[in-house]
Amino acid sequence: MSETITEIDTLVVGAGQAGIAMSEHLTALKIPHLVLEKKRIAEAWRSGRWDSLVANGPAWHDRFPNRVFDAHPDSFIGKEGVADYFVRYAQQFNAPIRTGVTVNRVTRNRGRAGFTVETSDGVIQTQRVVAASGPFHRPIIPAIAPAQENIHQLHSAQYKNPQQLPEGGVMVVGAGSSGVQIADELQRAGRQVWLSVGPHDRPPRAYRGRDYCWWLGVLGLWDAATKEAHKEHVTIAVSGARGGETIDFRRLAHQGIRLTGVTRQFADGNVQFADDLQQNVRLGDENYLSVLDAADAWIAANGADLPPEPAARQFMSDPPCLTQPVLSLNLADEGIRTIIWATGYATDYRWLDVDCFDEQQRPVHHRGVAQAAGIYFLGLPWQSRRGSTFIWGVWHDAKYIADQIAIQRSYAAYGSVAQ
Ligand SMILES: Cc1cc2nc3c(=O)[nH]c(=O)nc-3n(C[C@H](O)[C@H](O)[C@H](O)COP(=O)(O)OP(=O)(O)OC[C@H]3O[C@@H](n4cnc5c(N)ncnc54)[C@H](O)[C@@H]3O)c2cc1C
Repeated sequence: MSETITEIDTLVVGAGQAGIAMSEHLTALKIPHLVLEKKRIAEAWRSGRWDSLVANGPAWHDRFPNRVFDAHPDSFIGKEGVADYFVRYAQQFNAPIRTGVTVNRVTRNRGRAGFTVETSDGVIQTQRVVAASGPFHRPIIPAIAPAQENIHQLHSAQYKNPQQLPEGGVMVVGAGSSGVQIADELQRAGRQVWLSVGPHDRPPRAYRGRDYCWWLGVLGLWDAATKEAHKEHVTIAVSGARGGETIDFRRLAHQGIRLTGVTRQFADGNVQFADDLQQNVRLGDENYLSVLDAADAWIAANGADLPPEPAARQFMSDPPCLTQPVLSLNLADEGIRTIIWATGYATDYRWLDVDCFDEQQRPVHHRGVAQAAGIYFLGLPWQSRRGSTFIWGVWHDAKYIADQIAIQRSYAAYGSVAQ
């Protein structure tokens, strides 16, 4: 898009999967809108991920309804392929996206409806704003990170490949999907790797001939509206690497990765770990087995003809790092030269200068409709359901928000007619 727009009904901030889904639904409802993206379409998939990353879900599932991947449905698409998919998706309905434009500030107008949007390319007036700027804005490196110059430290968002790191051992802190896959890749590349494992879920990649994404679907869990009690902060370890495999901490340890509990503190070149590795792995096992149990119960209840898989319930032997967990080690003695913090992200909505956040700067909303009229969020974790941050789920949340916008527009139109 090249023409200068100074006024638009709805402004969407961000052209990742959320912004594109939003634009598709607004287009279908003939709602005039503009999507502003500070970098490129689906930028997070291009520059915010490591080189070898593939989607966590198979191609038949991790997509929008109106386009398939040009690949085997059961394959796991590489990150560039996912980004290319979204570029083509946006092209297929001629999404009104302007790239290379940053939204610097949104403020509510006084004495008249709408918002003033200051961008790197001028000012735009809009009636409503959809913040589709992503769930993962700012990489979090916890305050315990050591202030040691001889240790190279980076966040998983900055990790690209093993060659990028200095020679020597690597400690990966955090064993969610990113930490586990990065540790595995580094160990396979010949590095000594330590992996600090906190509480996690580790569902099976597949069971009885069906992928986990399918099981989440038939068990109704993509649509689960809230997390299980006490599981609010539990990370999920899943992977599509090497054609898709279950994350198994015993296998990783037998392969050569040294597991530890949660990283507690660094002092004088030493690092200390909580004595929680066995418990974290045990609870991860319980989570894994609970998925198998739910799947078995569903098969029995529905008389489904899916092949039994008793081997899925057999675990490898406990490796020594699990039976005798290491509680501290000296970084220099172990040759650890790099720490990768796979410790998640925080949000950053400083550009949205509207009263729609709680005291911890979290959006206050219901299913993405902010308490502040005219503001909408999209792509938030658990925005309406488990699937909300994922490719599959965000499309459905976008549909709901587009409907809400259409409803508000119809009330506004009635007002104009009455006048
Ligand atoms: C390592 C990793 C792997 C993942 N793998 C999968 C997977 O396999 N399957 C799956 O379904 N999900 C996966 N996810 C989760 C999710 O799908 C991605 O995080 C996805 O990128 C989220 O899309 P989004 O559009 O909500 O946000 P983003 O992709 O982050 O897009 C937001 C866009 O907004 C732009 N933006 C932000 N602020 C502004 C501003 N002020 N002005 C203009 N533009 C702005 C950004 O440049 C960005 O392009 C993964 C996440 C991570 C971190």
